[in-house]
Amino acid sequence: MVLILLISTPVSAEWIGDARPLMGTEIRVYLWHDDELEGQRIVDAVFDEASRIDEMMSTYKEGSRISDINRRAADEAVFADFELFHLIQQALDISVLTRGAFDITYDSVGQHYNFRERRRPDDETIERERQRIDYRLVELDNMNSTVRFQKQGVRINLGGIAKGYVVERGVDILRKEGVENGVVTAGGDSRLLGDRRGRPFMIGIRDPRGDGEVAISLPLEDEAISTSGDYERFFDEDGIRYHHIIQPSTGAPAAGVHSATVFGPHAVMTDALSTSVFVMGVDLGLKLIAGLPDYESVVIDADGQIYYSDGLRQPEANELEP
Ligand code: ADP
Ligand code: MG
Repeated sequence: MVLILLISTPVSAEWIGDARPLMGTEIRVYLWHDDELEGQRIVDAVFDEASRIDEMMSTYKEGSRISDINRRAADEAVFADFELFHLIQQALDISVLTRGAFDITYDSVGQHYNFRERRRPDDETIERERQRIDYRLVELDNMNSTVRFQKQGVRINLGGIAKGYVVERGVDILRKEGVENGVVTAGGDSRLLGDRRGRPFMIGIRDPRGDGEVAISLPLEDEAISTSGDYERFFDEDGIRYHHIIQPSTGAPAAGVHSATVFGPHAVMTDALSTSVFVMGVDLGLKLIAGLPDYESVVIDADGQIYYSDGLRQPEANELEP
């Protein structure tokens, strides 16, 4: 929802799709298929897969595996299914890559926010819970596929990476079913399969302070794209915007950026990286992306200024080879 897909609503019978609320956002699946019934079956399969992943990874579900980990892992090593274990591992690797800007333990502070009810932690709570934000407190045992926390009160939350995983898995299903053109979107994360039948998909990046207007649109195919913004889950109080992306070093919402978009080959990466670039800010964020040859980024800062990663920048005349 951070992202606007400019695919025209399917006019022809062959674009088949649906949008359903899931994971606290809207998931959309569109694909091209000659056989409408068969296409509909594949769409359903993607939604089933998204629900399955949500059941495992949602901290809002008492019965999820991740809730079990959050309840017990400070006392004992807790088993995580291979898939969950692997995603936690990836999240921790990205923490290393981003020097802690991306950190799934943000949730010890994050759990105290409720944006719908305009609730936020007081300074004392932030100060106390902040001591528990550190990805290095999460210990993984590869042999036994278990997770353990080195401190009481540590919590993990995959909100910054799980939607990317869902759209990546969704597109895996499309591919396995022989679909060549499609798109799976979960909130701000999309994975495109192929193109829009001869034309690229047009992906719009929202004007973070506009009324749904598109600031930039990008023609993309066969790629993942994620946007993190401070306008999706938030409330304003005394001129301060309290939103859902937490600066791990302070425990407060990250300031300085209004939206960060990252695109590249893997949705798990674009999802985590868009959150990371948001937290790191324009300079450090774009430096991070410059070190990742397959990924590009567009950042809109708090003044509405738009910044592009090197791979997107028009070369200046004096930079061109003679
Ligand atoms: P969206 O959920 O709108 O797609 P993001 O991909 O940017 O947006 O993810 C934001 C979510 O990531 C938050 O709702 C929260 O669950 C989680 N999160 C917040 N701060 C961090 C952080 N510093 N590191 C990792 N995850 C975070
Ligand atoms: Mg993200």
